[in-house]
Amino acid sequence: MRKYIFVTGGVLSGLGKGVISSSIGLLLKLQGHVVSLQKIDPYVNVDAGTMNPYEHGEVFVTRDGKETDLDIGRYERFLDEELTASNYITTGQVYWNVIRKERSGKYLGKTVQIIPHITDEIKRLIRLPLEENDAEIGVIEIGGTVGDIESLPFLEALRQMKDELPREDTFFVHVTLLPRLSTSDEVKTKPTQHSVKELRAIGIQPNAIVARCDQPLPEPVKEKIALFCDVPLQNVIEDPDLRSIYHAPLAMSDYQLHHRVAEGLQLDVADAPLQEWTRLVRRTEHPDSRVRVGLVGKYVELRDSYISVSEALLHAGAWENIGVDIEWISAESLTEGGGTASLAELDGILIPGGFGHRGVEGKLEAVEFARAQRIPYFGLCLGLQCAVIEFARNVLGWEGANTTENDPETPYPVIALLEEQIQVTQKGGTMRLGVYESTLAPDSISRRWYETDTIAERHRHRYEFNAAFRQEMEAAGLRIAGTSADGQLVEIVELRDHPWFVSVQFHPEFTSRFLSPHPLFRGFIRSCLEQRASS
Ligand code: GLN
Repeated sequence: MRKYIFVTGGVLSGLGKGVISSSIGLLLKLQGHVVSLQKIDPYVNVDAGTMNPYEHGEVFVTRDGKETDLDIGRYERFLDEELTASNYITTGQVYWNVIRKERSGKYLGKTVQIIPHITDEIKRLIRLPLEENDAEIGVIEIGGTVGDIESLPFLEALRQMKDELPREDTFFVHVTLLPRLSTSDEVKTKPTQHSVKELRAIGIQPNAIVARCDQPLPEPVKEKIALFCDVPLQNVIEDPDLRSIYHAPLAMSDYQLHHRVAEGLQLDVADAPLQEWTRLVRRTEHPDSRVRVGLVGKYVELRDSYISVSEALLHAGAWENIGVDIEWISAESLTEGGGTASLAELDGILIPGGFGHRGVEGKLEAVEFARAQRIPYFGLCLGLQCAVIEFARNVLGWEGANTTENDPETPYPVIALLEEQIQVTQKGGTMRLGVYESTLAPDSISRRWYETDTIAERHRHRYEFNAAFRQEMEAAGLRIAGTSADGQLVEIVELRDHPWFVSVQFHPEFTSRFLSPHPLFRGFIRSCLEQRASS
């Protein structure tokens, strides 16, 4: 038995379809169903790897090394499960597959068309993760807004699936916005009616409407939507603004969205056991203490660029009963005028991943500040590379030490291209991507927090600690706390003479979950609290 829940969006983008999809998935999973979540991105990019974080937010990397949209990260954080490449589809990938088949002669003699060839490929890719994971229910989120040219082939594929499958095997949830006119204080349903009309023109009648609004919906508004959009009244679900995304499963459970879905799909459901989730949500609101963490980055104007990092801080805080206030610090601001004054009140400094030259010198200022002032420091990927460069320049006195990414002529290339990258010329999907194992040093901070000797973490980089400088750096006080399974690559660097200075070449933020935070984020937040207590 395989059943499909399709989540579409109307009126405008950014309504939180991902949160609704994740909430439905979580509520069904908590009742013992095997659920698979999938995101369809109607972009022509083959994956999200080549997209600028300013345009698309963070690039999230799956265990098997696919560079995906940040919604995949949200699914993992809500469901506490690892998704894979097949949980993410783009237009580019669909066409790529079809064109490759055409070139290899698979359609010999045929005219290759959007219907049926592209739509058949879409249907195959929608079924794939359910087959791979032996899942019973697929929740498929269609990115963009109904009415966009880009999403038409996908919606046509969904329409076909609806007609091919028994009625009780598909369910369409349409997420829309109900604007409120400030002059008359009236909630308007017309944009919702229009977007449903648009869907129906494609041949899809939604089974439920989730209506985003700034307040709980008055009954007459729900009745109007039910009547005009031809949806049973109890299937019009309000979605008022919430204090955080983690309230969404609780709200959707209260409004019984999963019961409505289950009725449509003829599934057994009861109320979902949300006690643990509720307990952690409460802690995010009323923690015992608070800390201030400075996140020094290059894309801080668009916080979605670092969404897994900020969520991982929140998860760790909820677990440890510590509220985390993030100070978003533009790396460039640290080298322009103000200097490091903005770092003075912080309990900890975190430098996330990044690419290119811009902001790196400011990040080095932040590392120096954390090292010299003995403030907890957590470096992720580029954050490790900055820690190594700073140590080389300011502890060892190696003037001009750098990464060859930004200075190919540096006299001290302490960070250099990975050997396997030397021949690489193509940009898409060619970094060191996905899970690799590392071995931890027995006496390290990392070993203490992981409580295990070997770890498996997700990577996304081309450059790496240059082993040629390893001995000298270790002798000067750098601790190599983790290496690749073969001992060749440096994966974690710590400082010996510092309360909590940990930088990692991988991305621990990708595996932090609301119900099971990442141990290093917990360690970092704890050390921030100790720092606060001692200052
Ligand atoms: N730009 C660096 C590299 O490619 C760091 C990458 C990252 O932070 N994800 O190695």
